[in-house]
Amino acid sequence: MSWGALYFYYKCPKCGKLFKYSIDLIPEYQDEFGNCPVCNIKGEYLKEGAADLDDLLYEDID
Ligand SMILES: [Zn+2]
Repeated sequence: MSWGALYFYYKCPKCGKLFKYSIDLIPEYQDEFGNCPVCNIKGEYLKEGAADLDDLLYEDID
């Protein structure tokens, strides 16, 4: 059994987009981790954890 990836979930305060970042991306994005992929501003942190039931609502950043 795999635990799967862990994610940080965000909602953009400007456009309302839902997106998630794998914690594996922290070293790659650093200060931009959690930014909206459309607006490039800091998203509103919602939660963190393994992929959830509503996971598909969130765009996967990679
Ligand atoms: Zn946005």
